[in-house]
Amino acid sequence: MHKITLIPGDGVGPEITQATIRVLEATGVSFEWDTQNAGEDVFKQEGTPLPDRVLESIKKNRVAIKGPITTPVGSGFRSVNVLLRQSLDLFCCLRPCKSYEGAKTSYKNIDLVIVRENTEDLYAGIEYKKDSEGAGSIIELVKKITGRTIRRDSGISIKPISVYGSERIVRYAFEYARKHNRRKVTAVHKANIMKHSDGLFLEVARGVAAKYPDIEFEDKIIDNMCMQLVQKPELYDILVMPNLYGDIVSDLAAGLIGGLGLAPGANIGNEFAVFEATHGSAPKYKGLNKVNPMAMILSGILMLKHIGESAAAQKLDNALASVIKEGKSVTYDMKPANDNQAAETTSGVADAIISKIA
Ligand code: NAD
Repeated sequence: MHKITLIPGDGVGPEITQATIRVLEATGVSFEWDTQNAGEDVFKQEGTPLPDRVLESIKKNRVAIKGPITTPVGSGFRSVNVLLRQSLDLFCCLRPCKSYEGAKTSYKNIDLVIVRENTEDLYAGIEYKKDSEGAGSIIELVKKITGRTIRRDSGISIKPISVYGSERIVRYAFEYARKHNRRKVTAVHKANIMKHSDGLFLEVARGVAAKYPDIEFEDKIIDNMCMQLVQKPELYDILVMPNLYGDIVSDLAAGLIGGLGLAPGANIGNEFAVFEATHGSAPKYKGLNKVNPMAMILSGILMLKHIGESAAAQKLDNALASVIKEGKSVTYDMKPANDNQAAETTSGVADAIISKIA
């Protein structure tokens, strides 16, 4: 029996979570779900979107699976997702993007793994509002030590990248490569412009790479990387990068394999792991039983592997692959434009996968 913290999330979160629980249980693995709500509704009831009880539950169970949680844009509470990653030191965001036969995309045989640093960079949450005392102090300090002027009407976000943070994420990428028999690690950066943050990341990456002579290493500037991924994704294998680029490139890679409905993720630290899809809460589809649960189900497959249930993971992956290949019981986002058959519902996809679990 595996005791797992279950965070249904908001928006489409609860419906894809329900579908995911059903298929995970259908593999025959026993779970005890410790359900913990977080997000906007919890903020209204408990005054915080991420109460301590949620963190305590994950600390106790060590593994969680979560649905997406909405983050208000511009103002309001800070991202619960970012807070979770920082509070539990889940320094690695692992996002494998693999082609499934029958998925709606013109790319074939994509097999990329994005290893995104998850705690630093512009996501550190150190920000100063325009006209605030903090912004004013920084503007004065920068003027004093560099002689350079930042406009008074600026908001400021700080981008810290450390040796410690870079080293552990790049090491994770190489260790993952070894463990999974992968051939190459590409470090992605903008070190030509941000010499002391991205430049440091690259310098550390080169140092770590030297300790793994059995794995090929190269680096790419982020803008070139985006073009390369669209033109010749087959040249790439594992991509390791700072937080913000990882966020953007994950969605790009999801696009290559047929969209966000197929892109899973895992937030991993030395002690805890939280599994969640790459996509967000897609609020306009909330409660419609319409969106694709496969990204969260694929995140569940990553979780099964993490808790040592590899046979169940393989069984579920085969069932999911067979549903995609057949193309009948898939949601709207996976239907070709010329397919007149009605799209499957979220719960219908779970039924179809369960029917194929051998
Ligand atoms: P989103 O990923 O929620 O949705 C963007 C679009 O992608 C949707 O409108 C939909 O067309 C499509 N899509 C997403 N998931 C899908 C699915 N499972 N099946 C089919 N189509 C799907 O991105 P957004 O609209 O930018 O963000 C909505 C909210 O989610 C924001 O508040 C954002 O902060 C939050 N968010 C949360 C997480 C997380 O919980 N880890 C991650 C990303 C965004």
